[in-house]
Amino acid sequence: MSNQGSQEIFEKVARLLRQQQEMFGDFEVQSFKEAKVQSDKVIEEQSDRDSELQSGKVAEVQSDKAPEVQSGSALTVEEQLASCSTLEELRTLCEAAEVLKTDLPNTNLVFGVGNPEADLMIVGEAPGENEDKQGEPFVGKAGQLLDKIMSAINFRRSDIYIANILKHRPPNNRDPKPEERQRSLPYLLRQIELVNPKVILCVGKVSGTTLLNQDLTLGKMRQKLHVFHGRELMVTYHPAALLRNPQWKRPTWEDVQMLRSRYDELDGKP
Ligand code: URA
Repeated sequence: MSNQGSQEIFEKVARLLRQQQEMFGDFEVQSFKEAKVQSDKVIEEQSDRDSELQSGKVAEVQSDKAPEVQSGSALTVEEQLASCSTLEELRTLCEAAEVLKTDLPNTNLVFGVGNPEADLMIVGEAPGENEDKQGEPFVGKAGQLLDKIMSAINFRRSDIYIANILKHRPPNNRDPKPEERQRSLPYLLRQIELVNPKVILCVGKVSGTTLLNQDLTLGKMRQKLHVFHGRELMVTYHPAALLRNPQWKRPTWEDVQMLRSRYDELDGKP
């Protein structure tokens, strides 16, 4: 390679590192092997639990009521969800679903956005004001930071699929209530099945605890590969929390680096 060629590569790498240091602060690159040894253990511990969930216990744990029948349809919600074979059909079902609404009146459905065949799906908490107005997840300040974080590990927004636990905005951006999460969950689970990602990244505690169905701190959930319905799932800080607590940027950087390595190892596209 010519001197000029190697100089250009060197400058590109230096630019990238400066950009990442600016965003995430000083960081150490954790060896992927170290992270993986820890994660393999979690995968083993979780896979028993996951097979229980897959064998139907999940429905018992997550819904103690009989499946609701939506007005105008003789089918149960489960049957309606199963009958959706595309994201568009699912969106139409969500548009009519009163159960997805919060107590804030006149909100718009924020269904999800991105590559319908993405190998990486990001799951946030609930739409905020901007998301409600635009009908798209993560378009406000937190969304801009999420885009930067993804770009630092070489993902464009169009490569991935983004959704939330709730599909409607809660009033005053309060945390989604447990019953709202449980009512929305079957719709999100169908959405995950239809996108069929290899890896899911939950941003924030609400997202992680809802999908893992365990009351854990964020510190306990991050830096691990969890098994979720036959897929891998990781949890990291919510970008809105990073805006308030910049000291969490560095651990977030470690988490997303681990995510990228695992994604590549699983042959995620592109
Ligand atoms: N926060 C979320 O969790 N989701 C959004 O869509 C926007 C902000």
